[in-house]
Order: sequence, then C-alpha cells, then structure tokens
Amino acid sequence: MTSEQVTDRLGRQLKDLRISVTDRCNFRCPYCMPRERFGEEHTFLPRRAFLSFDEIEKVVRASIPLGLEKVRLTGGEPLLRPDLADLVKRLSDLEIELALTTNGSLLRRNAAALAAAGLTRVTVSLDALDDDVHRAMSDTDIPVETILDGIDAALEAGLAPVKVNCVIRRGVNEEQAAKLVRHFRGTDVTVRFIEYMDVGRTNGWTLGEVVASGDLLEHLRGEFDLIPLAAERASDVAVRWGHSDGSGEIGLISSVSAPFCGDCVRARISADGRFFTCLFASGGHDLRALIQNGANGGNLTAAIAAIWERRADRYSELRSEETSASALPRIEMSYIGG
Ligand code: SF4
Repeated sequence: MTSEQVTDRLGRQLKDLRISVTDRCNFRCPYCMPRERFGEEHTFLPRRAFLSFDEIEKVVRASIPLGLEKVRLTGGEPLLRPDLADLVKRLSDLEIELALTTNGSLLRRNAAALAAAGLTRVTVSLDALDDDVHRAMSDTDIPVETILDGIDAALEAGLAPVKVNCVIRRGVNEEQAAKLVRHFRGTDVTVRFIEYMDVGRTNGWTLGEVVASGDLLEHLRGEFDLIPLAAERASDVAVRWGHSDGSGEIGLISSVSAPFCGDCVRARISADGRFFTCLFASGGHDLRALIQNGANGGNLTAAIAAIWERRADRYSELRSEETSASALPRIEMSYIGG
C-alpha cells in the first residue's frame, strides 16, 4: 500500500471503478430496466450531462494513486455511447486492467476496434439460450444468435476468456442454467450465475424469486462433475467451480445468500459523474461539479479519498425484508451499471 492509498471504515481499499458511460439501453431486462418504468415516456439523461471522455480520464487518473487497479465500462448498454474505442484507448494508456460489460448485441460491430484500442476483458450478459426465455428476461426481439455471434467476435478479437453473466430468476430461466453450461463447456467462455438482486426500486424484487447459488450448484452437479477452484483475487465476486476434466469452469455470484461486502473494493460512477460507494446506495457524490470547478490531479484524488474514507457500506450483509422494503430511495442499476 503506498502512502496515498486509502481504506474505508471497514478497511477496504478502492481498487475497482465501474464507470457507466450512458444510461440508455436497447434492452429492457425486467430485473434492471422494466419497460413499464423505462418506456417511451422515460426521460434519460441529456447527453450534455454525460461525463466527457476527458473528464472520465481525469477521474481514473486521480484514482490510480489511491490503489485503483481495474476499470469496468458499463451502462445502460455502453456500446450505445459513440466512439467508445477512443475512451478505451485513453484509459488503456494508464496501465490498468480495462473491462467492459455489455449485452452483446453490438459486439460483432465493435469487438475488433475495442481490442485494438486496448480493452482486455469483456463480460456479456446472457440469461438464456432459448429465444423465448431470452425475450422474457431481456424484453427485446434481438435473438440469442446475435449475442452468441458477438461473443464469437470478442473471442476472434483476442478478448479471451470471455465471461457470460446470467441472472437467474425463479420461475423464468433457471432451466437455462444447464443449457448454458453445456453450450460453453470446452470453450474460452466462463458462465457465471448471479442471484437475482433487489437493486433499485423498479424491478419488484421478492426473495421468493431468488434461486440460491447453493441450490443451483446442487442442480448442476446432478449433471456436471464440478470441483471447487481457488479465487483469483480476494475481491472477486464469483465463487469458481471447474469441470473435473478441465473442460472449463462456472462461477456463482451470491449477493443474497452469501454476501461478499467484506471484500468489496468497488465504486461506481454514473454517466453524469456521480460517485457511488455501493450498488445499493441511496445517493452519490457529484464529481462532475468538482471537475467543472477546476478539480483535477491531487485535489481530485483528495476529494475521492475523502469520500472513500467515510464509506461503511455493506448492504448485502444487512439485507432483510425490512431493508429491502424500506422507503429509502435506491439507485437504479441501469443508471450506475450494476
Ligand atoms: S452490497 Fe455494496 S458493499 Fe456489499 S458487495 Fe455490493 S456494492 Fe459492495
């Protein structure tokens, strides 16, 4: 730890920054952006409110002395932001790990340019292989085939291994889990299953719709011989399980049944420059105003450090019917990128 690196009130460092580059998306996944709340009448952020690439670079540069190791570009759907490869080029020059989370629908068109610009990792959200279930989980007519082709494009561009994130919602897509494992086994694609979470205030989450990772694992072990694998980093959210014959692995992300707040080193920035210290935060800190008032370099680092040092978030560890149902506002996932 260098002299500038800071820890929050629970001793956690700031290592990962998830940066939303747009609040827009071409999907309407009910667990994130239900159409009844994000329909034709929904007012998205005006584009002039977006952090410019220059401002994003300033924030990343200012966070590196604090211990930042990884930036993940998210949305909404980040590939809807024009010229994203230019931002990737800027950030890749900063020698940090650079990842992207996308719904994959625009990946065929962009993978090669993103890889050439310096992107190192891509995660694709895909909740089903069957089109009817995919439609139920994403409320889009873009077929699974397009997403699979996007994954192929990422592999062709050298962005291997590719991670696929699948949110499991009881009664909707739990039957797709084994199909996804079968489909990607023996490839450079790792499927991670995410417990459905009470993010935001619009997805109507209930505990009953959550398939606990332990139950899902037991179901999958009915077909696959899976053995536990060691974590790559203490702060990794996915618990890894590998096929005993070495033909690949899966991951389980269990924010509800096995919270991981103790090792949470992540902060998030919305497209309009608000800094959030937790996915379940009620409010954020306006970095854009700071930057537009001249903050840069050391004083921007100091401002971010001051926010982080006051952090004590551990929502998932404290989650209960009460916390989930409380009247406190909660940031929408589509606004801060999950
Ligand atoms: S609930 Fe908040 S503190 Fe806990 S792991 Fe998620 S983002 Fe981190």
